[in-house]
Amino acid sequence: MSSLDKDGMLIDAQVIQMRFTGIEHGELAGVHAIVVHQTDSSTAQNTFNGYKSGGNGAHFLIDKNGQIYQTASVHRRCYHVGKLIRSKCLEINKSNCDSVAMASMLAMGWRQQIKALDAHERQKDYPERYPINSDSVGIELVGKSLDATRFEAVTAQQNNSLQWLVSELYRHFSLTTSDVYRHPDVSYKSPGEASTATWK
Ligand SMILES: [Zn+2]
Repeated sequence: MSSLDKDGMLIDAQVIQMRFTGIEHGELAGVHAIVVHQTDSSTAQNTFNGYKSGGNGAHFLIDKNGQIYQTASVHRRCYHVGKLIRSKCLEINKSNCDSVAMASMLAMGWRQQIKALDAHERQKDYPERYPINSDSVGIELVGKSLDATRFEAVTAQQNNSLQWLVSELYRHFSLTTSDVYRHPDVSYKSPGEASTATWK
């Protein structure tokens, strides 16, 4: 079993510490969810090279051989979700939506609509809305995008490591499988990203 140290690093023989403070952006006060991604690059090194210059990133990276790296402290916020989140009630259970507000937003053009939905959702607390950067941890799996709708398949070793990692995070943050999301479920991304990731 892993332990979590005071700096927000997961201590275990299965995890290599490779922290890039340039992808950390302020405090992450509480972890309520996990978002699973694919990198759209073919090696872990490509992602590390990008992280050296800071900007967007996630807390963990799982290489194709299953090796887990921790790339940011779980006490610090990473930009991994994106700027605009989808409406959880609209995607999962329309009867939970504010039907008047929703009707007026759905009548808008696409660009205006996704901004309005995002602003509307951010007034809610998790789990009424999808996770955002300020309440979630991101896990990247190394893997290339193949075309507009497909990514290369997540390897069996990656899925084994993902299963272990999420189970450790469940324990440290009192989460369940219902708190783990694929990136395209949460924001407007290629539907193939992490589609072959499994953790249940
Ligand atoms: Zn992603």
